[in-house]
Amino acid sequence: MQTREELYKSAFRQVQSSRQKALVLSKQRYEQACQEVPQLSSLMAQMQSCRAQLSRSMIFGTPQQREELQQKLQQLDQDLSALLQEKGWSAQSFQPQFQCNLCQDKGEYQGKTCRCVHLLVRQLRRKEISSISALELSTFDSFSLEHYPNRYMPEFECNPRKHMAEIFSYCKKYAEHFTTKNPNLLMTGTAGLGKTHLALAIANTAIQRGADVIYISSRNLFDQMELEKFSPTSDLRKMVMEAELLILDDLGTEFLTQYGVSFLYDIVNSRMLRRLPTIYTTNILKEDMLRARYTEKTASRLLGSCELLTFFGEDIRLMEH
Ligand SMILES: [Zn+2]
Repeated sequence: MQTREELYKSAFRQVQSSRQKALVLSKQRYEQACQEVPQLSSLMAQMQSCRAQLSRSMIFGTPQQREELQQKLQQLDQDLSALLQEKGWSAQSFQPQFQCNLCQDKGEYQGKTCRCVHLLVRQLRRKEISSISALELSTFDSFSLEHYPNRYMPEFECNPRKHMAEIFSYCKKYAEHFTTKNPNLLMTGTAGLGKTHLALAIANTAIQRGADVIYISSRNLFDQMELEKFSPTSDLRKMVMEAELLILDDLGTEFLTQYGVSFLYDIVNSRMLRRLPTIYTTNILKEDMLRARYTEKTASRLLGSCELLTFFGEDIRLMEH
């Protein structure tokens, strides 16, 4: 994944290349039209020369000359409109068609990064996340509670559907009102109960709200970090530590090394200090298993800093196939 700065850089590049394209296209359209209708270029040339004379006459000319030139310009303008209409064109036909009316695809508006660039950054982040997961499909709307048994199950001491309905609405609120003041979440439950789906639905909504969200599977992150462990300034490390929302999916499936354990501690700790929320999902159900795997120190930090959401039910993926 790219850092926020990299995303902004590529968004700027993209916006500015749209501008170039729009300029070139409008020029081509105009040149082609002039070839087809020579009268057009002659009219345009006359207008240009008339405008130049008019501005000179503002300083050197007499009021009568100015009046005549203004009338001439008006006449030319009418002729042009008539010609354009006759050919099915409009005054806009040869203007560059910019994607963004605010900044005309310059990327800056009133001295600030334009809205279109921010929007594009969000799209790029979404695309990046989608390419590694099912983000497009994972929304709150596509989450179905039907898959969860709607009966009291003694092994869970609850009715899974009712329980999941509560988790669902909690997650929805969490996302819809997302700020960096949100708490950390630890989603636990056996595989196939929709943890990743809900985590991604939160990501989706938070991105729409403009948050800088990083989603990464634990296996992927720890593999990468193992490779980069000797470069403390790695971009990935920076992103993971600084994203407004980090989703670390499937904790427990990574190949864990000594370094990995201390890296996880670093993530939990640094993000706590920066007051940035993290969502962890894991198939590890028991606290003592977490402690055994990640050491007492790391597991306590993790458990102590998260709200626990426990998913109950039967494997959704098994039921769908
Ligand atoms: Zn713009």
